[in-house]
Amino acid sequence: MNIHDSDRMSQVLMSCGLQPVDEPKHAGVIIINTCSVRAKPEHKALSEAGRYKHARESRGAKIIMAGCVARQEGEKLLSSAPWLDAVIGPDSIGRLGEIVRALDEGEGPLVSIEDHTQDDPRFVPLGKLDKGFSISRFVTVMKGCNNFCSYCIVPFVRGREVSRPSEEILQEVQQLAKRGVREVTLLGQNVNSYKDVSNGMDFPDLLALVDRYGSMDRIRFTTSHPKDLDEKLMDVVQNYDRVMEHFHLAMQSGSDKVLKRMRRGYTSEQFVQKALALRKTVPGISITTDLIVGFPGETEDDFQDTLEVVRKIKFDGAFSFKYSPRPGTLAQKEFDDDVDEDTKQQRLEILQELLSELEHRSLENLEGRTMQVMTEGTSLRNNIEYTGRTRCNRVVNFTSSDELSAGQVVDVRIKEARGHTLWGRKTL
Ligand code: SAH
Ligand code: SF4
Repeated sequence: MNIHDSDRMSQVLMSCGLQPVDEPKHAGVIIINTCSVRAKPEHKALSEAGRYKHARESRGAKIIMAGCVARQEGEKLLSSAPWLDAVIGPDSIGRLGEIVRALDEGEGPLVSIEDHTQDDPRFVPLGKLDKGFSISRFVTVMKGCNNFCSYCIVPFVRGREVSRPSEEILQEVQQLAKRGVREVTLLGQNVNSYKDVSNGMDFPDLLALVDRYGSMDRIRFTTSHPKDLDEKLMDVVQNYDRVMEHFHLAMQSGSDKVLKRMRRGYTSEQFVQKALALRKTVPGISITTDLIVGFPGETEDDFQDTLEVVRKIKFDGAFSFKYSPRPGTLAQKEFDDDVDEDTKQQRLEILQELLSELEHRSLENLEGRTMQVMTEGTSLRNNIEYTGRTRCNRVVNFTSSDELSAGQVVDVRIKEARGHTLWGRKTL
């Protein structure tokens, strides 16, 4: 989401006549886009911002802190980091042009923090794209979250759920297609609770619409909430050819007691049923997840329950985190952060070892198969190999006897799974 927000910021600034530069040391405007979902990225953001202090003092560069840390801390940031010229929340991206102009005219420091009470969803329209833009882009379909999981700061910093009109989404996808983009990822905190109030369209309807009229080769989406995953969505993923076979479905924990305290709205059994139904309905699907260890009150037994469910579902990939108390959340206010740091670290390592093994096995299962791969460019390692993604979102490095261009979909025979990457050769 933040990658997409940063991209939108550069589009807004380019539409105002600014040009991107390769390195911050050449920039007249430096924006640090921030995440506050855990304490670590929040601290990193503040130290990163400090690195540009001298750019302001020596040559008058404007330093802006954007994103969720900006939204969370607001004006307070100006006292802890007085070298900041502006602090802007995630819903102020559309105003970035006027903010930079005002700074140029000598105003500042400025604070633009939305209160999230307005009805106007303010989705920033597509702007100018950088020259070397990729063939795969994000398109926001909804923002905010109504779920208030007890550990999570997102509803506080991103506000309540607002869905973007389906017509506007389709138009943006079509505009991207005209500019050469071949793959879109529909983006939202809970894409599958999408609802266009003007015509009653839900998320499966939206996927079907973009599949039929979006002129894309590939459609992906993230993130889906397990409680809103139903048969209709599974059927669309199965039956619409441009919709790719990958689900990111955050489980968080395999213990019912922990899930309840997290306020996730499902039991581990319900999660398992849905994941297995997904594997059955959509053959070849990859399922990835998010997991948290060391949530308040998590016992060794609870942690073992998580490991057991992870083994049962055999996730194809995962992000895993140590619980980090976030200001103002229910968990931070009501529960003691009582799992000590060493235990959290140990559990994280055990979990990551299991996840890594499962991911490797899932890749090995693809050895010998021929898979459709969309070429993204030449491999980072050298210029002879190409890199691309399978329909199920696996990265493949491959060789080809003919020259390929980004966006081309080719058949690749998978020779080997090495680490987290597949290696193969384009079939003749
Ligand atoms: N809307 C998405 C999650 C967005 S936040 C969903 O519900 O699927 C991304 C991930 O960060 C979460 O899935 C969770 O695993 C992790 N996370 C959020 N808050 C956290 C916290 N306080 N401590 C540790 N991890 C957290
Ligand atoms: Fe956070 Fe839960 Fe909303 Fe995801 S669903 S953004 S974890 S509150």
